Amino acid sequence: MATGKALGQLEVWFLTGSQELYGDDVLRQVDGHAREIAASLDAETAIPVRVVHKPVVKSAESIRQVCLEANAAESCVGVVAWMHTFSPAKMWIAGLRSLQQPLLHLHTQFNRDLPWAEIDMDFMNLNQSAHGDREFGFMETRMGLRRKTVVGHWRDPAVLERIGTWARAACGWHEAQTLKVVRFGDNMRLVAVTEGDKVEAQLRLGISVNGYGVSALVEAVQAVPDSAVQQLVDEYEEQYEVVPELRAGGERHKSLRDAARIEAGLRSFLEDGGFMAFTDTFEDLGALPQLPGIAVQRLLADGYGFGAEGDWKTAALVRVAKVMSAGLEGGTSFMEDYTYHLSPERPKVLGAHMLEVCPSIASGKPACEIHPLSIGGKDDPVRLVFTAGPGPAVVVGMLDLGDRFRLLLNELDVVEPDEGLPQLPVARALWEPRPDLPTAVEAWLVAGGPHHTVLCYAIGRDAFGDFAEIAGIELLVIDADTRMADFAKEVRWNQAYFHAVRAG
Ligand code: MN
Repeated sequence: MATGKALGQLEVWFLTGSQELYGDDVLRQVDGHAREIAASLDAETAIPVRVVHKPVVKSAESIRQVCLEANAAESCVGVVAWMHTFSPAKMWIAGLRSLQQPLLHLHTQFNRDLPWAEIDMDFMNLNQSAHGDREFGFMETRMGLRRKTVVGHWRDPAVLERIGTWARAACGWHEAQTLKVVRFGDNMRLVAVTEGDKVEAQLRLGISVNGYGVSALVEAVQAVPDSAVQQLVDEYEEQYEVVPELRAGGERHKSLRDAARIEAGLRSFLEDGGFMAFTDTFEDLGALPQLPGIAVQRLLADGYGFGAEGDWKTAALVRVAKVMSAGLEGGTSFMEDYTYHLSPERPKVLGAHMLEVCPSIASGKPACEIHPLSIGGKDDPVRLVFTAGPGPAVVVGMLDLGDRFRLLLNELDVVEPDEGLPQLPVARALWEPRPDLPTAVEAWLVAGGPHHTVLCYAIGRDAFGDFAEIAGIELLVIDADTRMADFAKEVRWNQAYFHAVRAG
């Protein structure tokens, strides 16, 4: 049933709590209901992972056992818990204390409607999640457990959507636990916001960030056979509008071949090392003939995370966002707030980068062009040029406050440019931030938000909110309802809260 699920190689476990008190007949019914609900959730495409039923747990030991098994299972990304009947919550302490997986508390019941004419005490005893789940919720809160709570009937599309979103965040978390980010060279010199504590990143988020000399990449690039270069050049000509000067026979065709060789070398380096995200910097390119442009863009389109100028936080975030949005409509890209259109009516942000915007957000067929970079002192780099398609989206940034990480998200609307941009030699997105540009940007600056972000069409505040909850880090949201005075207070209160949580 779950074939075609975007993240169907991963699963969440469906745990149902009860106790021995009820006797075998009732417990058999409880287990039958749980099995039916799990199978139904498993069949839903709104939930992108498999949902695996586990036998009803009735004792502290069986609860602890299944939690330990969930921790150890390679493909398990989280646990959904539901108390069909009353499951005294002191039984859950040992298990929940050992559980290291994301937790969703599903507060549902098997029957949607009250059976008005037939309801009797047997029915009441069997269907009592209304108080069983309160007992469980109390213990979660008493233990200070981070979790998602979803309330409603298990066939309700809104309930399925919320479980699905949380499952996406759990998959992003699962990805982060094994994510290896490679940095070619270090940080862009003197830049502050792209720096950060890589040890804390691994402790808190799981991501492992390590540097390699760019000479190692150069070796991989130089080892690329000409046949692989030719294959990529053919692919470029098929997939993009390659400008005549870059085509075979064109006077700058060699630059296209250089770019293809960089792509093949970079790709093999990443594959050999098991890296799913990477950074580079134009200040440290060694013997690479040009700054990787089209290479980075195509790797982004294939799901790799990337951050420019050594920005490993954004590289990791792009990769996690790509996993969380797997199978959904709408692209995900590395992005930078570049310049503004500050007209009084409908002011806008023009987002772009020197080169490295992902074609997954392109509307129409990208052009493959070559232009000077004006910094870095290397050959002109080949890049894909396009405009991002219109639609609602978010930008998300991650910053290191010195003692913790903060995620910052702004809801926005990508729009068509007011006019053509015939001289602009890079891929770009034009957007109107919510609630309006002055408020959104003031809030962004007050929160210390970075200039590098992830632009996401497919997922938004809910998925990133669930991810932040799982990770135990802050997420600040700037949206249509943001009022600056309240936002500034939230920033201050959060500062106190996260210090208190850390101390506690
Ligand atoms: Mn940049």
